[in-house]
Order: sequence, then structure tokens, then C-alpha cells
Amino acid sequence: MRRRTFLGTLAASSAATALGSEPLGAGQSVRPATAKPTRITLLGTGTPAPSLERQGSGYLVEVGDDVIVMDHGPGAHHRLLESGRRAIDVTHAFFTHLHYDHCMDYGRLVLQRWDQGADRINDLDVYGPPPMRRMTEQLFGEDGVYGPDIRARIEHQSSIDVFVARGGTPPRKRPAPRVREIKPGDVITGKEWKVTVGRAKHVEPYLECLAFRLDAPDGSLCYTGDSGASDDVVALAKGCDVLIHMNHYFSGTAPSPAYRAACGNHRDNALTAKKAGVKTLVLTHLLAQVDQPRVREQIVQEIRQDFDGRVVWGEDLMELGFTLPQVAKIEGY
Ligand SMILES: [Zn+2]
Repeated sequence: MRRRTFLGTLAASSAATALGSEPLGAGQSVRPATAKPTRITLLGTGTPAPSLERQGSGYLVEVGDDVIVMDHGPGAHHRLLESGRRAIDVTHAFFTHLHYDHCMDYGRLVLQRWDQGADRINDLDVYGPPPMRRMTEQLFGEDGVYGPDIRARIEHQSSIDVFVARGGTPPRKRPAPRVREIKPGDVITGKEWKVTVGRAKHVEPYLECLAFRLDAPDGSLCYTGDSGASDDVVALAKGCDVLIHMNHYFSGTAPSPAYRAACGNHRDNALTAKKAGVKTLVLTHLLAQVDQPRVREQIVQEIRQDFDGRVVWGEDLMELGFTLPQVAKIEGY
């Protein structure tokens, strides 16, 4: 799939010190802007419904030297490779909730990173709601799903030889993601970013459902995970440059009030974006019913009746930054 660049990268060389980002708030430890603008790539904009066009939920945020994934649903890892990144490049993984369409490629990410990294890179830093730690143990522990595979790769001579060829020094360590279970209100600070954990409104109490706000030197991003309309999400997203919001279905077609409460529709999302005062609303988690010519445009048009910011119809591998694209003067076409 062709990479699609919409916002930001054209302004990469000069804009980082002059961006109109939201204040980071008191007590921030985010360092001043670097020359490298934050890059956001939509890896998977689909739903649990099968689709070759839209993979399971996944987002890539590159800030400074850190490569962060937020959710890693089925197919998101394939898109990561298509984006030019590999598992070993990823430094942090955040999970909003443990619906499979948001976490099924977690195993692939950890195992490929472990295998290719050959003990030369740090273990992955993982943040997610409970039972993130249990899921990790059940996948990669000695008695876990991949326990026999991991043992074979550590102990069989052929695997040791490959490990050494990749630069490793036996004995090989087990994959050991550094898992931190998180809850609304938690703050995780990286070298040049801060993630604030918020509460989404989705399928509680069966799953803990989180939303994330990432503040970087050049701007702020809020990713809702899966959420219906929620004052908590509005508060978390306040003033963000970019809000990536679930836009699952067409307003008025929900089968029940419970469905509407758990999943975003476009009219609800318009009001969320308006109340939060974000600059750009990115629509994602899109069912086929809304992903049709003329329906797409109707949705964007109706959202703009309530929300006067920019509305972006998300696509897998779309890239966004915090600065607006510069439209070059036509010369020599
Ligand atoms: Zn979900």
C-alpha cells in the first residue's frame, strides 16, 4: 500500500520551534522541542469485521528517538512493516483495552522483537489495563502459549547458532516485556513525551477501557481507544492538535442504546471534538457501512455542522503530524 502523507512532513525542517501546541501543564518533564517533528501513522483503522483494506486497531507515534505503538490489533504489525518500521524499532507499547482487535498482534510484536533483537535491545516497555500482566505471562511465560517455542529457540543448537549470528551472546534470555498495568489518572513520562491515561466509555466492567493523551514538544494527540460519547474523553482531549476517535457507525443506525453508549457515531463524535476544542478530528475504527463514497462525505459534512475544525477520514498507513501541510505553488507541472 502506498504511504499517504497528509499533515506535517513538509514542514519538518523548520516548524518544530514555532508550533502552536497546547501548554503541557504544570510539572511536566518533557524537554524542549527537538528538530524532529512528531510523526503519527495510522496502522490499522478497521474493526473486528474482516477487511483487507483496514487492519485491526493500531497507531504509531514517533517522538524524538522513541517509537511508540498504541494498540496492536490483527494486521497492525503488517502495517508497521509497511510503514518502514520493524519490531526491533519499537520502544514502547500502550494498550487501551484488551479486545482482540486491539491486541492480537502483541504476541507478534514481542516475539519478533525478541528474535531479531538477539538480546541487543532492551525489553519492550508495555502499558495497559489489567490483566495485561497476566496476558503477557500466559503468552510468553514458561507455561505460556509460546513457552515451548521460546524454549526451543533458547536451547536448540540451530537456534543458538542463529542467535550468535545475529550478535547475541548465549545463554539467551527469555522475552520479558516490562509490563506496567495502568489506570485513569496515571502519567507516563518519556524522554520527550508524556502520556496521560484517561477513561474511555466502552464495555466496562468486563474490560477496563482507557484513552491516551500524548503531549510532545510540538503538539498533543488524544487517542480514544474505543469509546462512545464521554465527558472524560472530552476532558482528556481538551485543546489537542489531533484527536483520533472511534467512528464505528452511522448515527441513527445503532441496534440499541447500549451499542450507542459503547461505540462512537459521527454526530456524537462531532460534539466531542467541539467540546474538546481540538484542531483536527481523525475518524477511525470504521465499519464498511460508513466506508463508502458519498456516505463518507455526508458524515464529514454533518460533523462539520457542529465542529469547525478539520476532519480527516482515516486510512491505514496515513501519516499525520501536528503542523498543517504546506500546499506548494504549482510550478513545472
Ligand atoms: Zn473495543
